Amino acid sequence: MKASFTSIFLVLGLHITSFAQQNSKPISIEPGVSFELATYRHAVISNIQYTLEFKIPAEKTEAIDAEESISFNLKAMSQPLQLDFKQNVDHVKTIAVNGKTIAVDLQKEHLLIPAQHLHPGENKVKIAFIAGDASLNRNNDYLYALFVPDRARTVSPCFDQPDLKANFLLTLQVPADWKVLANAVKKDSIITHQRTTYHFANSDKLPTYLFSFTAGKYSDVKQMLGNRSTEFLHRETDSTKIKLSVDSIFIAHQNAINFLEGWTGIKFPFQKVGFVAIPDFQFGGMEHPGEVQYKASGLFLDEGATKDQFIARSNVISHETAHMWFGDLVTMEWFNDVWMKEVFANFMADKVTEKMMGSETFNLKFLLDHYPAAYGVDRTQGANPIRQQLSNLQDAGSLYGNIIYHKAPIMMRQLELLMGKENFRRGMQEYLKKYAYGNATWNDLISILSKHTKADLYEWNKVWVNQPGRPVFDCSIHYANEKISSLTIAQHPETGTKRIWPQVFNITLVYPTFSKVIPVKINQEKTVVKEAFGLGKPTAVQLNSNGTGYGLFPIDKHIAEQLFSFESPLQRASAYINAYENMLAGRYFKPAELSTLFTKGVSAEKNELNLRLLTSYLTTIYWEFTVPAERLALNKGLEQTLWNAMEQQTQPNNKKILFKAYQDIYLSTAAKNNIYKIWKQQQPPPGVKLTEDDYTSLALSIALKSDTATSVLKEQQNRITNVDRKSRLAFLMPALSSDVKERDSFFNSLKERKNRQKESSVVTALSYLNHPLRQNTSVKYLPESLEMVEEIQKTGDVFFPQSWLGAIFGSYQSKEAFTTVRNFLDRHPDYNPKLKDKILQATDNLSRAQHLLNKP
Ligand SMILES: [Zn+2]
Repeated sequence: MKASFTSIFLVLGLHITSFAQQNSKPISIEPGVSFELATYRHAVISNIQYTLEFKIPAEKTEAIDAEESISFNLKAMSQPLQLDFKQNVDHVKTIAVNGKTIAVDLQKEHLLIPAQHLHPGENKVKIAFIAGDASLNRNNDYLYALFVPDRARTVSPCFDQPDLKANFLLTLQVPADWKVLANAVKKDSIITHQRTTYHFANSDKLPTYLFSFTAGKYSDVKQMLGNRSTEFLHRETDSTKIKLSVDSIFIAHQNAINFLEGWTGIKFPFQKVGFVAIPDFQFGGMEHPGEVQYKASGLFLDEGATKDQFIARSNVISHETAHMWFGDLVTMEWFNDVWMKEVFANFMADKVTEKMMGSETFNLKFLLDHYPAAYGVDRTQGANPIRQQLSNLQDAGSLYGNIIYHKAPIMMRQLELLMGKENFRRGMQEYLKKYAYGNATWNDLISILSKHTKADLYEWNKVWVNQPGRPVFDCSIHYANEKISSLTIAQHPETGTKRIWPQVFNITLVYPTFSKVIPVKINQEKTVVKEAFGLGKPTAVQLNSNGTGYGLFPIDKHIAEQLFSFESPLQRASAYINAYENMLAGRYFKPAELSTLFTKGVSAEKNELNLRLLTSYLTTIYWEFTVPAERLALNKGLEQTLWNAMEQQTQPNNKKILFKAYQDIYLSTAAKNNIYKIWKQQQPPPGVKLTEDDYTSLALSIALKSDTATSVLKEQQNRITNVDRKSRLAFLMPALSSDVKERDSFFNSLKERKNRQKESSVVTALSYLNHPLRQNTSVKYLPESLEMVEEIQKTGDVFFPQSWLGAIFGSYQSKEAFTTVRNFLDRHPDYNPKLKDKILQATDNLSRAQHLLNKP
């Protein structure tokens, strides 16, 4: 190809002017951190050191006095420097620049420092202020800092962007009996007048979103991990849980560290390992180096825990540990690439799991963890691509979701299959070494990986990473003389323009006494499977029988007859998922038919992970895709079937899964009495282990299903001794009340931010409030619930908008609910597109129910 001289000249000319403009053009002052501001600051600021002291009072309502000194190197600049601080101006007491006190000028979330007070080279800004405390999560006797993605600037002035990494030198003054944990090691502590002052060493280089600390009344456990002294803070009081969990938690960290050091070829990259278990934490975990935060209930398990919970615990620990390399050591340049740190954390956590449990269980777990969740978004009208645009950091929260957590690992595994494991690993090692303690973009990674493969990763990237959606596969098979004469697999996009998803998966030809497995590599619209030619006519054909393929695959209905006798749990799981996805797409199975098929599976399926999938599909079909009158008819048989299956299954965990499914769907008077008796006498069915949390959950079910049983919740509350769990139940109680007025006022209370602080409890409360059995009175909350989403996004943590929407809309099926959503979107044509996507994602089942339930 030849470019003309003029066009080259024009391009060059344009480039020069825009560069010159950028250098002199003032950066606009606007709320948040715009991409423009971040790019500019990255160009002129370097070598940042924050020195911070917080004086934390025992009373959570008292203000936190703080002092800060920021030193940094600056290039010459002719405009005011914008330092981010999202607070009212009354929070700033004094500000001094290079030794000189200046007037406080706070505009649109930025402290402005006039250029005349700054000079090229090192500068120092000292600020006395009152810390903003919404992101310090203050509770009665503990608090924790959680700043991801852009909340650091709500607490203290800073340059809040991921590519301005800095060292943090922290001092915390706290009530004398409080414990503390932060990114760096503790240097010393001084006790005076019932207060303790802790001085920490200087931290490793961190972006602002990874700076963190916690302080409060915690129990403190120290163990050696290899030659590293490791500290763990928690508030658990149940001695059984402590005894059964603490060692396992340390061991899981050690296993993950060992694996990652080996895989990456890089030693643990930070000065210390430390973690804290937080009651009702809003995420599963958060990867601050030296102070990883975990949801306490995910770490502390007792003898009643299921295999799934043990795997989930090891998985979340491996995920957060993997972040030390992926995200913490090498950080994305801008939050549009936040998915990269998440995909690698998940991908590496999966590899740790694979090593622990062998590849067979791993492949099954990978399929069950990622595919249903990814399809749950990718099949909807609100599907988003893995990589999204982000023009201001204040919108970063809306990038999080199941696409980055679940589709991205699937994409990454397909990439690894495409490149080969060793090439892939060599590329990743090169990337980590090159960008250690710095920042990188997805394009930086792709260009390194491209050196290690012949495949065209740029083309591949377009379909898998930059666009949403999934392919639909079709299979045509012809026979001559009872032998296969041709077998062709075709793909087309479920929605949108024509494109091809390159991928690999297996086809299984099922015969009466054996199966023939054929691996296929798909990289065009039609793939002819030559290996099948000449083989005898099978009784059934299963596409994607090993579950690696991504998309909607055709179903050979003959499979239904043999499904539960397939030997491989992976093959069965792949068929379950595919059957369910097709039912939602209106193909092959109606909801009632699939419910009948899956009901057969609850006694036949012996694999715990599969049984969990089957029961969750069954309960979803029961509540969301069965009209109330039919549900009642279905209920009687289903209660009995689940109970019988529970008795027949021999594994305790399988029994428990079936008991939980029974608890979820029961409606009959006999079942009500049965459940009440189990709860009242604390006498579980033979072979089922129930813990305190299980009894709390039973009490909540009883309150939901029996109008007069509020006293059950009070009694349950008296049984609980742990103060955090007691207060969680107290929070939920009004949402479960049999009095509509009390439920209404609970919903209204959520309009105030302070009542939404415990996000994970709010989400649980909302799902009870909007339970199908309560929808007659809760459907009226829907318009306001939608109106609140923007506010929820602005004030809540990153997962809150989607979990808010999911808990509210997750189980509606009525036309009224559907119309409410439609009207809302019609009334707001210019609504924030990322939030609109979240609404469309959360209401996908509701919208499908309109078609699926009205079909004869
Ligand atoms: Zn993560």
